[in-house]
Amino acid sequence: MSQRTSYAAQPDLQSDCGSCFGLCCVALPFSRSSDFPVDKSAGTPCGNLQEDFRCGIHRRLRDTGYNGCTVFDCFGAGQKVSQVTFKGVSWREEPDSARVMYEVFPVVRQLQELLKYVAQALDLSAAARVHRDLRRAYERLDALTRDPAETLLAVDVDALRGEVNPLLLRASELARADVPGRKNHRGANLMGSRLRGAKLRGASLRGALLIAADLSDADLRDADLIGADMRDTNLCGTDLRGALFLTQPQLNAARGDARTKVSQPLERPAHWAA
Ligand code: SF4
Repeated sequence: MSQRTSYAAQPDLQSDCGSCFGLCCVALPFSRSSDFPVDKSAGTPCGNLQEDFRCGIHRRLRDTGYNGCTVFDCFGAGQKVSQVTFKGVSWREEPDSARVMYEVFPVVRQLQELLKYVAQALDLSAAARVHRDLRRAYERLDALTRDPAETLLAVDVDALRGEVNPLLLRASELARADVPGRKNHRGANLMGSRLRGAKLRGASLRGALLIAADLSDADLRDADLIGADMRDTNLCGTDLRGALFLTQPQLNAARGDARTKVSQPLERPAHWAA
C-alpha cells in the first residue's frame, strides 16, 4: 500500500451511497420500535427507497421515526458488494442475483468493520511495533472482500476476528502505555452508570455496556472503546480526542453537544444538541 496520511480515512472504508444499490435499505430487516416506525423483512426494499437507490426521506429520518437508519454505517461494504462483487449490476437489473447479494452484504460489512479497526491501529504511531503484522492482516482482509460471492459466503468471520483481535489489543496497549493510572473496564456492565466528569483517560472500555450511561464532561481521551455499546450514552461535553477504535455509528447512537470533542475523521452527528 502506498504511503497515506491516514489508513482509516481512506474512501474505501467510508460508505458511498451513490455507488451502492441501497443494500442496507433492502437486505436488512427492521422491526417496529423506537428505531423504526414499521416492520420490514430482510430482502424487501424499504418503502422510502427511490428508483435511484437514494432515500426519499434522508433529511427527515429522525422526524419520521427512522432513527435506526441514522446510526447505521456499512463501512464501505455497500459500494464494494455493488461494484466489485456484483460488478455494477443491481438487484433490479438482475433479480436472480438478489438473494445472494443480500446474503453477501452482511458478511462484507463485518469484514469492512474489521478492516476499519485494523486501519485505525495502523494510524497509531505508538503501535509501530505491530504495524508489519497489521499491514499483512489488512492486505489479507482487503483481498478477501474482493473475492467472488461464493467465497465470501463461506468465510468464517468469527475465526478471522479471533486472529485479528490480539493484534488490535497489542496496538491498543502500546498506544495507551504512557497514560498513568489507566483504568480497566473491559466488558464491564456500566449501563445507566453515573460517570459524569470521570477521569477515564487511556482506560480500556473494550466491549463495555455504556447504554444510557452518563459520561458527560468525562475525560475519555485515548480510551479504547472498541465494541462498546454507546446507545443513548450521554457524551455532552465529553473529551473523546484520540479515543481508540471509536466509530461513527457509536457516536451516532449516543447523545452529545457542541462541547463534545472528537478527533477527525469522526464528526459530531447533526442530530446532537447545539
Ligand atoms: S428510511 Fe431511507 S435510509 Fe432508512 S431504510 Fe428506508 S430508504 Fe433506507
